[in-house]
Amino acid sequence: MSLDYSVGDPIADTKAPAGPVEERWDKRRFGAKLVNPANRRKHTVIVVGTGLAGGSAGATLAEQGYHVIQFCFQDSPRRAHSIAAQGGINAAKNYRNDGDSIYRLFYDTVKGGDFRSRESNVYRLAQISVEIIDQCVAQGVPFAREYGGLLDTRSFGGVQVSRTFYARGQTGQQLLLGAYQALSRQIDAGNIEMHPRTEMLDLIVIDGKARGIVARDLVTGEISSYVADAVVLATGGYGNTFFLSTNAKGSNATAIWRAHKRGAHFANPCYTQIHPTCIPRSGDHQSKLTLMSESLRNDGRVWVPKQAGDTRPPDQIPEDERDYYLERIYPSFGNLVPRDIASRAAKNVCDEGRGVGPGGLGVYLDFADAIERMGRDKVEEKYGNLFEMYERITNEDPYQVPMRIYPAIHYTMGGLWVDYDLQSTIPGLFVIGEANFSDHGANRLGASALMQGLADGYFVLPATINDYLARGPFEAIGTDHDVVARTETEVHDRVEKLLSINGDRTVDSFHRELGELVWDNCGMARTEASLRKALARIPELREEFWTRVKVTGGEHELNQQLEKAGRVADFIELAELMCLDALHREESCGGHFREESQTPDGEAMRDDENFSYVAAWEFTGVGEPPVLHKEALEFEYVHPTQRSYA
Ligand SMILES: Cc1cc2nc3c(=O)[nH]c(=O)nc-3n(C[C@H](O)[C@H](O)[C@H](O)COP(=O)(O)OP(=O)(O)OC[C@H]3O[C@@H](n4cnc5c(N)ncnc54)[C@H](O)[C@@H]3O)c2cc1C
Repeated sequence: MSLDYSVGDPIADTKAPAGPVEERWDKRRFGAKLVNPANRRKHTVIVVGTGLAGGSAGATLAEQGYHVIQFCFQDSPRRAHSIAAQGGINAAKNYRNDGDSIYRLFYDTVKGGDFRSRESNVYRLAQISVEIIDQCVAQGVPFAREYGGLLDTRSFGGVQVSRTFYARGQTGQQLLLGAYQALSRQIDAGNIEMHPRTEMLDLIVIDGKARGIVARDLVTGEISSYVADAVVLATGGYGNTFFLSTNAKGSNATAIWRAHKRGAHFANPCYTQIHPTCIPRSGDHQSKLTLMSESLRNDGRVWVPKQAGDTRPPDQIPEDERDYYLERIYPSFGNLVPRDIASRAAKNVCDEGRGVGPGGLGVYLDFADAIERMGRDKVEEKYGNLFEMYERITNEDPYQVPMRIYPAIHYTMGGLWVDYDLQSTIPGLFVIGEANFSDHGANRLGASALMQGLADGYFVLPATINDYLARGPFEAIGTDHDVVARTETEVHDRVEKLLSINGDRTVDSFHRELGELVWDNCGMARTEASLRKALARIPELREEFWTRVKVTGGEHELNQQLEKAGRVADFIELAELMCLDALHREESCGGHFREESQTPDGEAMRDDENFSYVAAWEFTGVGEPPVLHKEALEFEYVHPTQRSYA
């Protein structure tokens, strides 16, 4: 791709009502049309994804009475990547009486996102957060409790209250079991037609509206079309563009990318989150990285030796020769500064030659003080499974020696553009959870993805999709419709093309090269030169992929090489847009750190005058210059300032 893009019409209306921010969601719900309960069964909704966003949405829509057809590529809906979430979920319940409120959660999230999110959406998220906890408790989710019986909370980065609800280090798993049992009930009742091990490979758009999907049965290879009145994508994030990430290996961008190619704008692709608390990479053989939950920074202290090149074991480095750099630089928030800030600080100390472990790419996360203060039993009770996981992977006992951690790709704040109703630029296509560009701006605060996914799935979408469906009737469409047949043929042709190239490079070799390229040039720090370098190489890589890739196995069988090949082809195209977006945004904000734009202290320096907007990109063809549509951001309540956590 050349560096070209054109600027199209701005996005004028996001459908958020005007008026006081605390009344907007009520106003929107009241203004939305409803579908009579008796008429709901006449509508079919496709939901792609069964993680926290899709699982909660499918269960709720079916409970309302809609006919739902749902898909996931795993063998069971409960294996969605959401199951990996460890640390917790935020809610402004203020059980601790420590000064929390809906307004404070709203404020923290707008500030944490470096003033690149929408106030209306974030306020709604904070309002709904309290309902999520009630919903999940009613489902039996076993949140940790205090001795007195109240739900327990802990803190996450970027906040000074304790508002994160958790279930040991398995919060995502327990929440997903809650959503999954609600989903299973509806599957059993015949209201949801569940298709596991089935991968959406394209979106069917008829007369400008999303009317279905084309999917491949991953066991038999059969390609089929499914039609509906509306389609919901809840297909997760695109962090695996970087090859190495903390995401599940299967997580991919195919559903959202192919919807983008059918007309859905892609917003802020360059906003990716690097999590500071991951187990460092151990070598080239590795195919995945492991997160150590941010919750560990409640009690663990981050440090490196004061002296560059100090290779003594940690227990031989005396206290006054250690630099607890987060506590030193950010005394108010200490080890719990937001992720973007903690990641950059870790990179800086490693760049200074003070990193620890192999290659000097690591910092210590030390629990010695916590063990002394609380006792080993208490530490074990709070973090036991995380400590065990760390020991299994590194063969080091974190009760005895400090953990070593290093930043890694973890989450993507960008995604398909949606309006206040969570509807994309294709009418009838709704996008929820990590798949949309979400409410987190340029940096997501910890424990807020689960909050957003469940807010979208249990509460927002079920209210707003009614408004769309009530505006029917929808023309009855059969799978013999010519657009359906054409889309299906295109999917077939692509699968056949992948299998026919029979080149000399593995799918993984392309993915690894792409991952390294974007990590080095569009990762924790980006410059104009690095981005131009990536943008020069990616089109070549794309060409090479389509001439040299070797996909073994056949079409009509379980073929994981074929699955991966399709996903990697999409990652390559998406990476190009990610780098272009990063290049055009000549400012730093949150996780998007352009080295040219930093304060004298090395913090991200925004340019509000020129970049206070959501960048929504329109697809015009592979390798063709996309069109940029700007959605201006307005701040009536939380006024943009230089973020400070000192
Ligand atoms: C290790 C780790 C720990 C985390 N811990 C926390 C935490 O403590 N707190 C927090 O708030 N956030 C956390 N996060 C982030 C959070 O887990 C995710 O953002 C969130 O779970 C995403 O949920 P989702 O429903 O949007 O997508 P996912 O859970 O990724 O689900 C995607 C679904 O879509 C399906 N799918 C995808 N593509 C297709 C396709 N083409 N066809 C058919 N099906 C498809 C998949 O099968 C799956 O069912 C963590 C993330 C990681 C990586």
